Amino acid sequence: MYRNHTCGELTLADINKEVILAGWVQKVRKLGGGMTFVDLRDRYGITQLAFSKDVNADLYEQANKLGREFVLQITGIVQERSSKNMNIPTGEIEIIVNKLVILNASEIPPFTIEEETDGGDDLRMKYRYLDLRRQTVRKNLELRHKIAFETRRYLDERHFLEVETPILVGSTPEGARDFVVPSRMNPGEFYALPQSPQLLKQLLMVSGFDRYFQIVKCFRDEDLRADRQPEFTQIDCEMSFVNQEDILNMFEGLTRHLFKVIKGIDLPEFPRMTYDHAMKYYGSDKPDTRFGMEFAELKDLTGGKDFVVFDSAEYVGAICAKGASSYTRKQLDGLTDFVKRPQIGAKGLVYVRYETDGTLKSSVDKFYNEEDLKKWVERCQAEPGDLILIICGDTEKSQKQLGELRLEVAEQLGLRDKSKFNCLWIIDFPLLEKDEELGRYFAKHHPFTSPKEEDIALLDSDPGAVRANAYDMVINGVEVGGGSVRIFNSQLQNKMFHVLGFTEEKAQAQFGFLMNAFKYGAPPHAGIAYGLDRLVSIFAGLDSIRDCIAFPKNNSGRDVMLDAPATLEQEQLDELNLKVEIKK
Ligand code: ASP
Repeated sequence: MYRNHTCGELTLADINKEVILAGWVQKVRKLGGGMTFVDLRDRYGITQLAFSKDVNADLYEQANKLGREFVLQITGIVQERSSKNMNIPTGEIEIIVNKLVILNASEIPPFTIEEETDGGDDLRMKYRYLDLRRQTVRKNLELRHKIAFETRRYLDERHFLEVETPILVGSTPEGARDFVVPSRMNPGEFYALPQSPQLLKQLLMVSGFDRYFQIVKCFRDEDLRADRQPEFTQIDCEMSFVNQEDILNMFEGLTRHLFKVIKGIDLPEFPRMTYDHAMKYYGSDKPDTRFGMEFAELKDLTGGKDFVVFDSAEYVGAICAKGASSYTRKQLDGLTDFVKRPQIGAKGLVYVRYETDGTLKSSVDKFYNEEDLKKWVERCQAEPGDLILIICGDTEKSQKQLGELRLEVAEQLGLRDKSKFNCLWIIDFPLLEKDEELGRYFAKHHPFTSPKEEDIALLDSDPGAVRANAYDMVINGVEVGGGSVRIFNSQLQNKMFHVLGFTEEKAQAQFGFLMNAFKYGAPPHAGIAYGLDRLVSIFAGLDSIRDCIAFPKNNSGRDVMLDAPATLEQEQLDELNLKVEIKK
């Protein structure tokens, strides 16, 4: 037997027991005067080992030679400690070691494997297997396991079947860029890795599986951000004979179940907000509703004062930053720089300070007097001590910019509290989105999303106005899930392809299998997919999804530990009938 206890479980109740432990040396503390302590770590915790020269000089000498991360097996007696550490469960005891076996030595690790490490990001990623020994990182993976496990439990209890779908599928250029895999047996032909099992799960509905789910890897070759990885995991679900309401209830239920059993939090019912409302008041289809700061529109209050900037703008909108009238010039300049960054793209920022003594000062005092400003602050429901920030321009763009500013200001004011969880549904998304440059419509969600019954007539006359039976679940400003009621009628699906600019041949070539399947009795169906990585990050309060993935890729899509991607041997290329020529 290698061990009969873990390093995280012994307490005063075990005093005088002889135990066998195995684990890694976290730290050796030589106290001098013939005493050395070793912290032994495993997945479950840390236990202090005590070596005294007086008790066993031989073992004491051996202990002094141990290095960090050596793998040990020890036998010893549990004793009460004289100086206790009440921060850890094993902090009241130590082991008086009577047998020590070094199972393996270790080189000095490239960074210290402790809560607060001295390893930078690159180093930790290169030695991720060591990084994963750190409790903070390991905890995230334990949480991830628990969320996946509880998801399976909830769905299984409701008769969902987990069905695996293939990883080597065909490319569907609609949507994001595909990762492709050359086929050796079919020269010149390629598989693609699935961006999601969307079509396959719809086919499973045609097959009658009626409640499907899969915790599944998906692949998208997109530019990376903190909340994006080239491969990520979805909790992918689909149901037959349901409407939107059924889906919202079922999966609101899943999210509440997870919060309840994992965090002990009883969430209130999820509010529902239309896409239009979200854009108008938050400038985002994933509003962070942990705090207010909704937009106020000022356009009608700003005209006739010769301020060309506002006069020529389609939209003038404001947010009210509570208690921020004391912002310094420098802080305001900082906010102006923030909105002017190319990623945000605003031309500038106008502010009104509502001083605590009730006076009003603005960056447009030349054009507007106190009386004018008074109307603005009333519209914004501001009080003395608040700061009004105003952005103007094209409506859609300005709302998005104001939305970014809202988040930045909330961050600065400490309003994005990680221990608070605000969940909501965004509903009534537009079905289509126009790409102005290409002059054509794209599906906002995907081409299989059904339009609202009452809007179908608009498909020909005003496609941009058609709303979809599509919904997103948003938590704390993060889109954690999204889905839709699907089209299940082949004529309507054909029509949709037509609106999206597909020729009949192209639609047939790409989605013929689905259209065919729909000829054989497709049931009404709808579904949703959660981003598991994002969900775990929110539960754990992480800033990046990378921290809850065992072996993540960096921002250039590299696995620095495996050193992938990499070039292939000529032989491999030949076998695949590939000729690689790098265009410079
Ligand atoms: N397949 C969709 C996605 O990946 C989700 C869904 O509609 O179920 O976004």
